[in-house]
Amino acid sequence: MDDSGKGRLPPGFRKLDLAGRRDAVRSAFFIPDDEWAGTSAAPETLELLDVMVETTVGCVPLPLGIAQGFLIDDKDVLIPMAVEEPSIITAASYAAHLVREDDGFRTWASDPLMTAQVFLESVTAQGEQALRECETELRQALAGPLASLSRRGGGYRSFLVARLPSRTVRLDLLIDVRDALGANRLNTAAESVCPLLERVSGGRALMAILTNAAAQRLAGARFSIPVERLKRDLPAGMSCQEAARRIAAASVVAQEDPSRAVTHNKGIMNGIASLALATMNDTRAVEAAAHLWAARDGNYRGLSRYSTDGMSLAGEIELPLPLASVGGSVDFHPAGRASLRILGSPDARRLSRIAAALGLAQNFAAVLALVTHGIQKGHMKYHAARLAYRAGARGTEVRRLAEMLAPPGSMDLASAHALLERLRGKLSR
Ligand code: NAD
Repeated sequence: MDDSGKGRLPPGFRKLDLAGRRDAVRSAFFIPDDEWAGTSAAPETLELLDVMVETTVGCVPLPLGIAQGFLIDDKDVLIPMAVEEPSIITAASYAAHLVREDDGFRTWASDPLMTAQVFLESVTAQGEQALRECETELRQALAGPLASLSRRGGGYRSFLVARLPSRTVRLDLLIDVRDALGANRLNTAAESVCPLLERVSGGRALMAILTNAAAQRLAGARFSIPVERLKRDLPAGMSCQEAARRIAAASVVAQEDPSRAVTHNKGIMNGIASLALATMNDTRAVEAAAHLWAARDGNYRGLSRYSTDGMSLAGEIELPLPLASVGGSVDFHPAGRASLRILGSPDARRLSRIAAALGLAQNFAAVLALVTHGIQKGHMKYHAARLAYRAGARGTEVRRLAEMLAPPGSMDLASAHALLERLRGKLSR
């Protein structure tokens, strides 16, 4: 047997039932009890997961936390976030509390427009012109595949034709997807019009699929606070004006330097992707759209900006946010439904607006930390809690041991073991 694990699973593994697949993997890789328990869930949950993807052997339970303190367009919102990285939820809540004292976040969202594309080869100039003139037929052909969206006020909006450098012709169908991501709907629609487009253009369809650019499905958020709001936690000697100036300066750096912008944006997506996952949205679709948008003028840039006039600090973000409140796994997985309930059952546009506010809050907290105390101060607290757990602390011991580990220099497992023994000695006395 080689180290790659190839050949370790029995023939026909894919066709085994869930219990059979679980047993096969567990015994093939000698997975110990504690690790295996981490892939387990209630039988009814595993049954559901088995329907969701092929070859399910378990699940990866992530923490689901709640960011608090958000005031978004005059409404209080609790935001569920599914994420493995510590400090993200606390940071978002911290920023939300700073902003809520001054009107909170103001947000906006465009109509939920997505684009399906058909790529056609061997199209002559005449065929290209015929495509530009086929809207009536196109509408008719799309009526069936888009009926469920049209019934809800969405559906076909417009189309355009473009010739790519490879000579391939691209036909874009702009479609209002209402509360869905729309991927399946759009893919079905695009595939269904291929025969018509081939006939009209005389060309041959190469492929048909939605684009994840989602460049016409934008949402944004902004806030403005007096700079004094920052005084809560500044390093000695740093004024609020100076902290605000440094935040604005950091956002300029994220506009001009892609190597900083990508980290700046990763911080924004810490919030948005966690909300996307908590609501069982397609996180890859959301991430792909955001990063393409960040590079839309040819240079990869930060997705948020901050400015200050010395009295107030303003932050703003706008990006594609293709988030759904129905369809896909969102209303199929009970955790997605529970998250939507916690959010107040938003429609897709409202969910995107909440996501924009969350992304901005997440970024604001990170940039504020970066240009004042540095990012590590907050992070080490969570590192201490994990170290305490690794050393064997459980229950209330975790927090107590983490506090003992906090002084610099004692953040290692050996110290954690020694301190845990000391703590337990004290407790048993
Ligand atoms: P879907 O196939 O579940 O379709 C949405 C359904 O919801 C439709 O049947 C629609 O009629 C119904 N619906 C009910 N109420 C609605 C409302 N208010 N607004 C809109 N529709 C409503 O889901 P989808 O959104 O077409 O596709 C999403 C899935 O496709 C996700 O699981 C995604 O991961 C996957 N996907 C993504 C890509 C990609 O992003 N490139 C490609 C293929 C598949």
